[in-house]
Amino acid sequence: MTDAWKTRTKLVHEGSRRSQYGEMAEAIFLTQGFVYPTAEAAEARFVKAGEDEFIYARYGNPTTRMFEERIAALEGTEDAFATASGMAAVSGALTSMLRAGDHVVSSRALFGSCLYILEEVLTRYGVKVTFVDGANLAAWRAAVTPGTKAVFFESMSNPTLELVDIRAVSEIAHAVGALVIVDNVFATPIFSRAVDQGADVIVYSTTKHIDGQGRALGGVICGTRDYIRKVLEPYMKHTGGSMSPFTSWIMLNGMATLDLRCRAMADSAARIAAALQGHAKLGRVIFPGLASHPQHPLAMAQMGSGGTLVTFDITAGKEAAFKFMNTLEIIKISNNLGDAKSIATHPATTTHQRLPQDQKDLLGITPGLIRLSVGLEDADDLIGDLMQALDAT
Ligand SMILES: *Cc1c(COP(=O)(O)O)cnc(C)c1O
Repeated sequence: MTDAWKTRTKLVHEGSRRSQYGEMAEAIFLTQGFVYPTAEAAEARFVKAGEDEFIYARYGNPTTRMFEERIAALEGTEDAFATASGMAAVSGALTSMLRAGDHVVSSRALFGSCLYILEEVLTRYGVKVTFVDGANLAAWRAAVTPGTKAVFFESMSNPTLELVDIRAVSEIAHAVGALVIVDNVFATPIFSRAVDQGADVIVYSTTKHIDGQGRALGGVICGTRDYIRKVLEPYMKHTGGSMSPFTSWIMLNGMATLDLRCRAMADSAARIAAALQGHAKLGRVIFPGLASHPQHPLAMAQMGSGGTLVTFDITAGKEAAFKFMNTLEIIKISNNLGDAKSIATHPATTTHQRLPQDQKDLLGITPGLIRLSVGLEDADDLIGDLMQALDAT
């Protein structure tokens, strides 16, 4: 285990722990607890547990620890804590550090459940939340004040793939001592450079690219050892949002191929975006890897990639968008992303259905908008599928 290892080596080996049997594959420790040789040993472990000493699966587990060490090494943070879902990660990252009277600034374009945490849950307990247009640095500057404890944003927004400038917002936040918490799902841990750009805490739903095969819910929070062990862990281990050992094992296996998968998906996404751009039945084709994307230079500087999603607008509206989706043969209609299987989503009627019309207008969620999560199928087959469905629309 060394910092000198490159990404793909870390993804295969980092954090591996072997039992006395020397098993090759990472073992699943499906156990709630651990046996102490003596009462004195139990007492000592409750005072301070060593590196390879565990107490109870809600606090930590060897399989989960392997996953946490692997993702921390990939992300470049000192430590990580794995959670039962992406939402357990988002709510834990925020709730563990906030108290009544604190102030948080957040971008407005958020995953629905993230919006619920900030708008409904935190405010119920007396946290003040200010929402800003995440791409507007002047708005961040105006909203962040000396009393601000944290800023929160999705580094690339869902579904319109708008970027928040991590470096610039971190500078604004750090000037008043606020913690920068980034939901980095759309950027993927492969294209993430959030820590180098100033982020303090990076949150993933591992349900997405890290599993990568749509099998299990999971989440993870990456940060400094102080934040993870002193602020977050006490909160998570007592409130119950820990990742199960079985899920950790799924995520560990997902990580071995994460770099290969994300790069293959991103290459296909770039080809698909180029093929769709200018199509007669489409309005906007949104892909940060296209030179036409207003934040293309920022995407290249921040991620070095356009990512694995392409969003486009079928000009004729909802009925045409539904006809298009129903005509797809390879691409599935669903709402996950980062899966090996390509997925088409109609945000206005599913993931963002709850939003009032003025919010949809503000976020650019038009009736014909389709979000495509590009999978691992052959890019030519995917382009063929999209074109035949557009022809029929
Ligand atoms: C999916 C998602 C989440 C929530 O993750 P779950 O694993 O579904 O709980 C949070 N943020 C973003 C950006 C997501 O895409």
